[in-house]
Amino acid sequence: VPRELVCQQDGRRLRLDTGVWRCPCGGMLDLSPAPALDPDRATKEGPSLWRWRHTFDLTDEIVWRRVTLGEGGTPLVAVDPGRPRVLAKLDFLMPTLSFKDRGAAVLVTLAAAIGADRLVADSSGNAGTAIAAYAARAGLPCEVFVPHTASPRKLAAMRAHGAIVRTVAGSREDAAEAAIDATERGNAFYASHVYQPAFFEGTKTFAFEVWEQLGRRTPDEVVVPAGNGTLLLGVYAGFRELRGAGLIGALPRLVAVQAAACNPLERAWRAGAEVATPVSPVAPGDTAAEGIAIAAPARSRQMLAAVRATGGRFVAVSEEGIAAARRQLAHRGLYVEPTAAATYAGLIAHLAEEPGDRDIVWAVCGAGLKSPA
Ligand SMILES: *Cc1c(COP(=O)(O)O)cnc(C)c1O
Ligand SMILES: [Zn+2]
Repeated sequence: VPRELVCQQDGRRLRLDTGVWRCPCGGMLDLSPAPALDPDRATKEGPSLWRWRHTFDLTDEIVWRRVTLGEGGTPLVAVDPGRPRVLAKLDFLMPTLSFKDRGAAVLVTLAAAIGADRLVADSSGNAGTAIAAYAARAGLPCEVFVPHTASPRKLAAMRAHGAIVRTVAGSREDAAEAAIDATERGNAFYASHVYQPAFFEGTKTFAFEVWEQLGRRTPDEVVVPAGNGTLLLGVYAGFRELRGAGLIGALPRLVAVQAAACNPLERAWRAGAEVATPVSPVAPGDTAAEGIAIAAPARSRQMLAAVRATGGRFVAVSEEGIAAARRQLAHRGLYVEPTAAATYAGLIAHLAEEPGDRDIVWAVCGAGLKSPA
């Protein structure tokens, strides 16, 4: 049975080849369960995340081979001299320099496989760059809506890939609204990393790789940024699949990091709420962590449930903490964008509150050269 889209709200099943991104009832869509993970089927043909494609089961062989840039297979290294059991997964070492390549490669492959003829996306920057790059690979025209505050280098990259970039005079949320509008008017495929669950099929490979790199073990904790949750939910799905296949026992605790300047999820977690109440959209200068400045995360219920199911937590970090973390990482050889530094700041804050030696993996999500100095 091919995989289907399943509505979170009313359980309705929709065909994947319709390209729909939201249930007619308005509910968010997930994918029906993935085929069982079998590590022996993760073929030895190189480090790319397509080694795990038997667990995606979304497309035939021809399309992904045309679209892939070899994404995935990123290093896992200790960067803190005093903390040998804290490992950084260098997920900015991918073709468009952020973890978004994992999801974008799979989502654009799906769009091409079902015969989409143009893509629309919205982004604070990195998702748009990744979608634009893989759209170029797939030969699909692409239009990306971004808030006017997005980093100029990210916009330049999108344009270089041939995407039409529409800067929206407003917030990240206004950009999403404009993209949905354009999708509906133009009968396009909405290549949204937030709504399209196929994106998480790509990001779940983060978990498979970590498990393999640790010698087929799970770490105690995984620290990830939390904006719209596309890495968080992918990592959660990946570890659940590993557990479903009997390859690990308990799931690692998920530690999810937000900027204090835009913390709807961290607030909801502290309040014991099941859904996040939107905060006001960020204004220019509120936070350097543009990639996680999401005032109204559409999958907040799922993100909160995932973190709680692992016994994990949310952490909010200050702007000073983000700046200090960025400097510290640079002194250890990693030049990352502020949003990526925020995750490290969250890790440090988490360790201060919950000290003790244990195996921790944290995601280094975006390269420094993409953002203003
Ligand atoms: C997209 C992005 C994030 C946030 O990811 P979500 O899927 O929105 O949670 C964090 N860091 C970087 C560098 C990003 O590009
Ligand atoms: Zn529905």
